[in-house]
Amino acid sequence: MSSIAIMGGTFDPIHYGHLVAAEQVRHEFQCEQVLFIPASIPPHKDKRLISPVVHRLAMTQMAVVTNDYFTVSTLEIDRSGPSYTIDTVKAVKEKYNPDNLYFITGADAVLEIISWKNVEQLLSACNFVAATRPGYDISNLQHKLDGLPGEHLRKIISIYIPALAISSTDIRRRVHKGEPIKYLLPEPVEHYIKKNNLYKEV
Ligand code: ATP
Ligand code: MG
Repeated sequence: MSSIAIMGGTFDPIHYGHLVAAEQVRHEFQCEQVLFIPASIPPHKDKRLISPVVHRLAMTQMAVVTNDYFTVSTLEIDRSGPSYTIDTVKAVKEKYNPDNLYFITGADAVLEIISWKNVEQLLSACNFVAATRPGYDISNLQHKLDGLPGEHLRKIISIYIPALAISSTDIRRRVHKGEPIKYLLPEPVEHYIKKNNLYKEV
């Protein structure tokens, strides 16, 4: 049995919240591989300027080098136009043909991704794992999913991870204000941000 997990995100920048969620899912579902897939044009993030993809890709690559199970996939970046989760899931299935596929999200993002419009298509294509995230109530999630048929409900799994109140938004704000970001993200990523003058204007 082969199992693969996908960790999608803007990763602007990647931080320990992403890495801890991915490692917990890898362990709990015995995945051979976790694919970190940076989004090229995130459909829901048009309210602010996203860093160029070269930076987000470089930081994601730096962050995964210490974990043999983690790899970065440029699948969404290589595709032109917006990246929809269903297309990404289909492409991963075609390439790796896993027996089980898990799409990792935080408790905040799972409902954004599984909208009522595409819920059936997505949940018949893969499992969704919602990791706990400080500030977002996971029981709220169960409540919101109440109306779904059992076969779909079973495809959304909640898991508990050590609470990390870290977000890319807060890291960008900290850099902008000159506050420390040390210990919130891997050290090479911290240096990369400094070296490339990222997030000076937010
Ligand atoms: P931003 O503040 O820019 O939205 P973010 O920290 O939420 O950034 P994203 O790239 O938006 O990071 O998130 C990618 C995925 O990782 C999402 O599913 C999100 O819910 C999840 N995630 C991010 N941070 C955490 C965290 N601290 N704990 C659990 N899940 C997280
Ligand atoms: Mg987010």
